[in-house]
Amino acid sequence: MTNQKVLYPLTNPIKSYAWGHRDTLPALLHYNNPNKSPQAELWMGAHPQSPSTTIHQDQSIPLPDLLALDPTHFLGDNHGTSLPFLFKILAIKDPLSLQVHPEKALAEAGFIQENLQHIPLDDAKRTYKDSNDKTEMLYAYSDDVWALVGFRPYADTISDLQAIASPTLQTLLLPFSQNPSPHTLEQFLVALLTAEASHKNQILHDILIHKASLPILNDRWQWLSTLHQHYPQDIAILAPLYMNLLHLPKGDALFVPSGTLHAYLQGTGIEIMAASDNVVRFGLTEKYVDLASLSRVVTFDAQKPHILPASHNQPFSTPPCSFTFTHMTKDQSYTLPANNPAQIILVLNGSATITNPILHISYALNAGQSIFIPYNAGSYHIEHHGELFIATTYT
Ligand SMILES: [Zn+2]
Repeated sequence: MTNQKVLYPLTNPIKSYAWGHRDTLPALLHYNNPNKSPQAELWMGAHPQSPSTTIHQDQSIPLPDLLALDPTHFLGDNHGTSLPFLFKILAIKDPLSLQVHPEKALAEAGFIQENLQHIPLDDAKRTYKDSNDKTEMLYAYSDDVWALVGFRPYADTISDLQAIASPTLQTLLLPFSQNPSPHTLEQFLVALLTAEASHKNQILHDILIHKASLPILNDRWQWLSTLHQHYPQDIAILAPLYMNLLHLPKGDALFVPSGTLHAYLQGTGIEIMAASDNVVRFGLTEKYVDLASLSRVVTFDAQKPHILPASHNQPFSTPPCSFTFTHMTKDQSYTLPANNPAQIILVLNGSATITNPILHISYALNAGQSIFIPYNAGSYHIEHHGELFIATTYT
């Protein structure tokens, strides 16, 4: 089978998390959603929890099982036995949780630890579902993508928080405001997020009084207000006051290394990440919140968001990681050389034809369809009248 130069159209699972938009994915991918259930994420890849499937020898087969038949053929040498990236579309109606993805060493240790504790992989309190880090990148497909990512310059956080008449909050803030550093910011956030309920309620009460006194709500206070509507009891709604608030321009991408605190708030995004489902949550969720991990997994430096400016027809310039990502604009054609890294191509907003003229093999893809191209697929000609989004193994 290793000489087969065939490609693999994918059937991809949809995740119906409650924050998902009902209509965005059905419209983009051309399917019906008669129950109007939330359609949050499309997953393209070989993650064991929810793999794509394809057809091999007239049989449906999960992508990981296909790759395992001949990893060298499908992935090339030195790329292990599974796809190192996971490719997604996110349709965000309501804000996602405040979260971080652990670095590799922490993921390995956490995965072993939770195995030793016999916490089942599907248990709500299971944080480490695999031993991988999860650097990720979010491409803004719509023009309303908003996110919280990393910490603001300390002076900005301190001046915004000091303006709030709340003795309880000011007491917690004092070590940080007197001596701003990653360590005192960590102290402040641990104290805030783990404060006893009466203190949290007092701070939330004071925050709302302050909000009511503002003549206009700037974007930070607007988002704080939105978060409060979703999670009225959750002290994590203060995040817009100490994190970078970002309206990501359409076509640009946000690179989020492991250890960076983030919450995606709104919009349609295309996401590519290391093939991991390790998420440590600190708030803005009904799911399990693991505050004991905060100090261990979060980087507390003030960092500007790492924005990758729009790039067309050549890969976004990510730092070294598990993937590369390319946006091909409409009405182009190109030749994919032999022995290109394994990749998944997604077509949106039009169609594409992928042809091997020597072997007389051709694949027609419509908007919303995707295809896996093995490392050893040989050379193909690609002509497209839609936008292509290409996820590849980083080389
Ligand atoms: Zn994330």
